Amino acid sequence: MRHDVSILGAGPVGCALALLLQRQGSSTVVVRPRKDTAAAFRPIALSHASRLILERAGAWEGLAPTPITSVHVSQQHGFGRTRMNAADAGVPALGYVIDYGALLDALLARAIERGIPVEDAPAQAQLTVHAEGTSDEATRKDYGQAAVVARVTTRPGAAATAWERFTPDGPLALLPLGTHYGVVWGARPERARELCELPESGFLAALAQAFGRRAGTFVAAGVRSRLPLALRLRPGRVGERTAFIGNAAQTLHPVAGQGLNLGLRDAWDLAQVLHGVEDPGEARVLQRFADLRRFDAAATVRATDFLAGAFLGSDPLSRLTRGFGLTALDICQPARRFFARRMIYGASALP
Ligand SMILES: Cc1cc2nc3c(=O)[nH]c(=O)nc-3n(C[C@H](O)[C@H](O)[C@H](O)COP(=O)(O)OP(=O)(O)OC[C@H]3O[C@@H](n4cnc5c(N)ncnc54)[C@H](O)[C@@H]3O)c2cc1C
Repeated sequence: MRHDVSILGAGPVGCALALLLQRQGSSTVVVRPRKDTAAAFRPIALSHASRLILERAGAWEGLAPTPITSVHVSQQHGFGRTRMNAADAGVPALGYVIDYGALLDALLARAIERGIPVEDAPAQAQLTVHAEGTSDEATRKDYGQAAVVARVTTRPGAAATAWERFTPDGPLALLPLGTHYGVVWGARPERARELCELPESGFLAALAQAFGRRAGTFVAAGVRSRLPLALRLRPGRVGERTAFIGNAAQTLHPVAGQGLNLGLRDAWDLAQVLHGVEDPGEARVLQRFADLRRFDAAATVRATDFLAGAFLGSDPLSRLTRGFGLTALDICQPARRFFARRMIYGASALP
């Protein structure tokens, strides 16, 4: 059978696209590897815009993520901090934290429940969408950092605040997930290896030293995993009867928690462009999609790339500049609102 759209990759972005397309009547098939590897723990902060997209895909209900109502940003060994809350951005929550594996399982189960075929070999279709995650064909900029990821417990337990602390080695994020926190800690590769190899007590002590006690006392840490960080960009987003979305189009540093949010906006815009068209693989249709995504993707890549590098190093002048930057944002409500809404909606039209 020839489908309208074949989606390679049953990751969150591929599944979200399949659900959006099915709702608008396209015949869609999802292709996933016969043996997909189990996902390691990874806390994902979904923005309010991602919530709206998943609601429209009929996939939000039942996810039960942890809402973030405020974000606290600071730097180690320096003054200045910024606090942002949901009211700044005019939304019920700044974001929603969920474990990547739980999100993946829920979206795939929803696709299967809706009767979307999930196969293990590519199928004939008018359009093939690549959503297989990071591509080797993409250009690569190494950050000289690796992310250490773990679930940690604090006393008292986590509430609805997310914490981002910039350290001279790299950014350290604590995302509330139930009563625990998901930690994503960017560091030089040797330091990241060390942090993974330390006994639990040593890791908790290192965390307390870098982060301080503002989120409570660190009392337990789960399994730690580590992965290298790089910016990967595909030179083009469309080709002959093909389109690229999510990490297959761009893989970002996790510093601002933007990768999946941007990927879901890719999926949303592609579904909008394909709505009602006769031939989804037609060059004109695909060009419209590429044009629509250009600005949002470029702006998000630039902002993330800037944040990944801006807070590195510990020379006094940079610390001072960063301190003034954080303080200025903290006291200027319109700037906070602009920044928060950019992080939530990107530079795209709202769903
Ligand atoms: C530590 C860390 C923290 C992060 N935190 C956040 C965050 O807070 N917020 C946020 O928005 N983003 C975050 N991200 C980024 C986010 O995880 C990714 O952007 C997102 O997972 C991309 O989704 P995707 O579906 O495009 O790709 P993936 O999640 O990589 O899924 C692709 C799927 O395709 C499958 N596949 C691979 N090859 C094939 C093939 N040949 N055929 C078929 N299927 C194939 C894979 O097995 C996989 O299941 C984080 C990333 C990291 C590393």
